[in-house]
Amino acid sequence: MEKRTNLTGLSQAELVSFMADNGEPAYRGRQIFAALQHRRLRSFDEMSDLPKALRERLQETATASTLTIESRYLSADGTRRFLMKTHDNLPVETVFIPEERRDTICFSSQSGCPLQCTFCLTAQLGLLRSLTPGEIVEQIVIVLNDAYGVGQKPPRGTNLVGMGAGEPFLNFDALLKAIRIMADPQGLFIVPHRMTVSTAGVVPRIRELATIPDRPNLAISLAAPTDELRDMLMPINKKWPLEELLGACKEFEQTLKAGERFTFEYVMLDAVNDSDEHARQLANLLNRHDLHTKGNLIPHNPARPLPYQPSPRTRVEMFKGILESKGIHTFVRKPRGRDIFAACGQLAAVAQSPGLRASSSAG
Ligand code: SAH
Repeated sequence: MEKRTNLTGLSQAELVSFMADNGEPAYRGRQIFAALQHRRLRSFDEMSDLPKALRERLQETATASTLTIESRYLSADGTRRFLMKTHDNLPVETVFIPEERRDTICFSSQSGCPLQCTFCLTAQLGLLRSLTPGEIVEQIVIVLNDAYGVGQKPPRGTNLVGMGAGEPFLNFDALLKAIRIMADPQGLFIVPHRMTVSTAGVVPRIRELATIPDRPNLAISLAAPTDELRDMLMPINKKWPLEELLGACKEFEQTLKAGERFTFEYVMLDAVNDSDEHARQLANLLNRHDLHTKGNLIPHNPARPLPYQPSPRTRVEMFKGILESKGIHTFVRKPRGRDIFAACGQLAAVAQSPGLRASSSAG
């Protein structure tokens, strides 16, 4: 068990008081915060502006980083998947998705996941453990350094999505803390506004997020328009069924401020949840709750042990058409990084590219 304090998981104020406890002036705390979060250094050795004796003392009680990169996979579409390991040897996965006008980093909130969504490969790992704030922030630091060079300013905007492994709302406090650390203008300076967190529907935390002023954008994973089907696909529905979930969503929607985004996601599973009837049921459900969220249809990303296939393109378009005709703005998401097991629902610490047909990722 790592007993030393991971300084990447401390806010600037906490670092100042950590250094004060070690008999050091406040500016040292600020200096180390900037070294970790702005210069994105990952070891005390690299902080050559600190006295050597101080670096040696820090080494005994603290760490500058704890995650190590195990492997890195590059997709034909430019997506990169990072398989990392925690100090206690658990897998953490993070994905870098270059896009035309911005780059997106998809981070994990847990190692493995306790939810048992039947269409998601991560579920097969079970929950290994929740990640600490430092482990969440480190994922972003590692990916930014890899993409742009150590400490280099991202040339375009960076968006974050909490859609990697795990259920972010079952690790809520660590998530919020990481979000606050990353927002610091003297650090990474990625503001909550540039971030979207996705939940499978942990109702009490949706209600809690509704009360928080500086918060990330929210996405809700629906996957089914009826309790009967959703119970089967996402067992969390038995705890918080659709009526309760959408009730909480409505409460949340009423607190939305200008510029905040609130969306739902719907994974499209061939002949399971993609009929015209399902589309009508989904539209009616959202309209009955007077929800104005926009929808993202995600073509299912297949993986060998999962019993589903993606809906055909024409089916997805029909489904979208029905939603649109009932006033629901809908986008179809393009899968990224399928060939390296980096797409939604494919993060399961797979050590190699799966050898799916290369053409499935090219589009
Ligand atoms: N636990 C959170 C965040 C992780 S999943 C949540 O459930 O929202 C991020 C998104 O990927 C969810 O919308 C989920 O429904 C979707 N997803 C999971 N497995 C998938 C798969 N095999 N293909 C496509 N999307 C998938």
